[in-house]
Amino acid sequence: MSKIRVRYCKEVTADHARNPRNLAHVGHYRRAVCVTPALFDFPPNFVYGVLLHELGHIVKAGKPHSERDADQLGGALARVRITRRAWHGARWVEYVSNADLPAARRTVNRFTDVQQLLSRARKR
Ligand SMILES: [Zn+2]
Ligand SMILES: [Zn+2]
Repeated sequence: MSKIRVRYCKEVTADHARNPRNLAHVGHYRRAVCVTPALFDFPPNFVYGVLLHELGHIVKAGKPHSERDADQLGGALARVRITRRAWHGARWVEYVSNADLPAARRTVNRFTDVQQLLSRARKR
């Protein structure tokens, strides 16, 4: 199965300008997670927490589910726990602990092409 694409999206960036806790969404493009570039200014505990949460939404795509379900499903993919923390002005952002970070990062890299987005960003 091909990887889920992680892409920048102007709508997420506009949502983020309205509320700093808006960093990503799914359901906009097929098999893609949209993010704002500002996501990558957050510590990796938040970056991989948010991306795992979005993968949790993709697992349940088309079926009714809550934000909490997305945390649980995304966390289950990596066998980690997604909690919520504030970071500067952003409240209630998905977060994984330092102990859970390697598993979260491994799982996100297995299911998404986020590293391609990050390497393109670094070249610019
Ligand atoms: Zn989008
Ligand atoms: Zn969500």
